[in-house]
Amino acid sequence: DASLHLSVRGARLGSRYVLLLADDHTEAKRLEEVRRDFVANISHELKTPIGAVGLLAEALESASEDVTQVRRFAARLRVESDRLAQMTQEIIELSRVQAMDMVEKADLVSIDAVVARALDGNRVPAEADGIRLITGGTPGLKVYGDENLLTTAVHNLIANAIQYSPKGSHVGIGVRSTDGVVELSVTDQGVGIPEEELGRVFERFFRVDPARSRHTGGTGLGLSIVKHVVQNHGGDIRVWSQKGHGSTFTIRLPSAPEAPTAQGARS
Ligand code: ADP
Repeated sequence: DASLHLSVRGARLGSRYVLLLADDHTEAKRLEEVRRDFVANISHELKTPIGAVGLLAEALESASEDVTQVRRFAARLRVESDRLAQMTQEIIELSRVQAMDMVEKADLVSIDAVVARALDGNRVPAEADGIRLITGGTPGLKVYGDENLLTTAVHNLIANAIQYSPKGSHVGIGVRSTDGVVELSVTDQGVGIPEEELGRVFERFFRVDPARSRHTGGTGLGLSIVKHVVQNHGGDIRVWSQKGHGSTFTIRLPSAPEAPTAQGARS
């Protein structure tokens, strides 16, 4: 009975008092569908690496005489188990930020610190590919939020920029502030994203090229986590990209008001 799920709130409108009816039933149904789809996606995505671990373990059991072969199977087993570990961690992270409405903890966070931490976590893969990470823009910007979650979001954008770019190219991280909004952009000179797929890259488990992603260890969860983190901070994310020419992902967050100066406090 749908009427049982309606929540009733009162509000004053001029001199009249009106009742606001919200259809919680539809919202509850939508959330249940989101949850069911997520579980179905997870089961589907985990099947491949779990199956591979099982097969490699079997192969190891019957290859015990040949050391070279054992080493090769063991190395592949390690790749698959690393992949499972990363996927599990990202699934946990995504379910946490998906379930959040607004961020639970809102500290004053320095964007410089977020960028520095996100860069640190990406130095090794960047150096391995000879990719130069270039930062620029306005220093000293601040937002309210959860520093760890924001660092994860920026980290994921930089990691993608590195992963989908040719060796020796540049990745730029720029910050600026306009009209009470902090903008952070990550720009690469990489493979780009076909126009028809642009709208889908924030969907969980979506990969433009699943075969390539499987090879490079992509899970299809990174951008989905970024999107939820940004939304939980009252912000949004946009992408500009041209196939073959590179991509720019821009996060926009409400900027934390600056501490009032002596003059500002007086007026
Ligand atoms: P993945 O783990 O596969 O990188 P993401 O959710 O981070 O998952 O990204 C989803 C897909 O979007 C990727 O598989 C890739 O096809 C595409 N993508 C993301 N970032 C970039 C980028 N900077 N350049 C080109 N393609 C990208």
